[in-house]
Amino acid sequence: MASGGSASDASTAKVRVRFAPSPTGYLHVGGARTALYNWLFARHENGVFILRIEDTDPERSTDESVAGILEAMRWLGLDWDEGPEVGGAFGPYRQAERLDLYREHARRLLDAGKAYYCVCTPEELEARRKAALAASLSLKYDGRCRGRGSRPSAPEGAAVRLLVQGAGVVEIADLVHGPIRFEDAEPDDFILLRSDGMPTYNFAVVVDDVLMRITHVIRGDDHISNTPRQVKLYEALDLPVPRFAHIPMILGPDRSRLSKRHGAMGVMAYQQMGYLPEAMVNYLARLGWSHGDQEIFTQEELIGHFTLEKVGRTPAVFDPVKLEWLNGQYIKRAVPDRLAGLLKPFWEASGVSREGLDRRGDAWLQAVAGLFQERARTLSELASSSQFVFEGKSERDEAAVRKILTQEAKDRVRALLQEIETLPSFTAADLESLFRTRAASLGLKLVDLAQPFRIALSGKTVSPPIFPMMELMGWNLVRRRVEEALKEDG
Ligand code: GLU
Repeated sequence: MASGGSASDASTAKVRVRFAPSPTGYLHVGGARTALYNWLFARHENGVFILRIEDTDPERSTDESVAGILEAMRWLGLDWDEGPEVGGAFGPYRQAERLDLYREHARRLLDAGKAYYCVCTPEELEARRKAALAASLSLKYDGRCRGRGSRPSAPEGAAVRLLVQGAGVVEIADLVHGPIRFEDAEPDDFILLRSDGMPTYNFAVVVDDVLMRITHVIRGDDHISNTPRQVKLYEALDLPVPRFAHIPMILGPDRSRLSKRHGAMGVMAYQQMGYLPEAMVNYLARLGWSHGDQEIFTQEELIGHFTLEKVGRTPAVFDPVKLEWLNGQYIKRAVPDRLAGLLKPFWEASGVSREGLDRRGDAWLQAVAGLFQERARTLSELASSSQFVFEGKSERDEAAVRKILTQEAKDRVRALLQEIETLPSFTAADLESLFRTRAASLGLKLVDLAQPFRIALSGKTVSPPIFPMMELMGWNLVRRRVEEALKEDG
């Protein structure tokens, strides 16, 4: 029996954790959450966070995927502390660059008589598996090559298998799930190195976790079934087992496993939809972890409060509506100059030209961001709802325009336009006092005058406070937009 909970130095040594994605696609929401929990745990414990790319499967791993994972990690602000130096910064560790280390460890196990060469061909193994299946016998490797030993040079086409010894029960003290007992855990003599010299997944993970002195393995609980084999490897290497924390998976709103049909899976898709990284981080942190009923956390608060004990044991449900709400909260709190910078590509995507943005200048763009940030849930929503304050064609809610801009409303708007023209200055304060005086003289409420004006101006029923917005737009554009709306039949 091996206990993952009693790794003697794990409790005293500096915390060292790793996120170990296989680069076979983009960084998805589940992977990002695993990365975040590792990062938060490392930062909370003043430990070390490592990024390790598990790219030993050349058929499925791509450089494009590695680049995408790094981009997403950087976007989320999950910086790593070690790795081979690339251009003055730490690159991630890449298993494909560490093959010698796995071979060296296999050699050590062979020399110690804890591993052996296996020359069974895939065809032979398959035939034996079928026969065992037909006879209802165990499908585990039958140990046929066990006697073959570990001669210094590998026989042609040989794989290396671990000589698995010991009782069939493996027990770990999982930091999320509590004690886990694998009853019939005695794994078969599994392969460490394939005949082409490439390490298997479990072997490369353990060798690296050993070499990187990983104290806590925090990963998705879809890896629980690998844990007994990995524990057996630590035993063979005579090394203490790290602590394990297996995080429950993420479900979609319909409680089936989160997948594409529940919406975007890739983290960077959220950037493209106009989510802020801190909203994403906050959301992912709360997806399976809690601190009382607090929903909004600064990064310092997350680091300060994060412990594995508070990671839930049951799967979390991904709720896009809550994520959107949270994003709105962060947009509301964002500093306008940062927001304006982030918004530029979204404004362009909503039809504002690059020249249009440049002409207005940063201070003006910041003022627009500041006015519109109150009610937008995504950057993309903010950009399209504010697009009419720029020159150029603007989108209008035609049905609402027709409904609100009755003939009577149009007459009032037209009269207002004429009075505005006589104002000595086109400022929010002057505009407001003009509208108020006018409403009072007509026996109307301010809103009864402002609302038709708003819709003529913006083509929308909701917008930020109308007077500062008009001041920002400037008299010429205000007049043009309103006149256009007055011209429409309705
Ligand atoms: N490479 C594995 C994956 O992408 C993770 C291995 C681990 O965390 O132990 O799922």
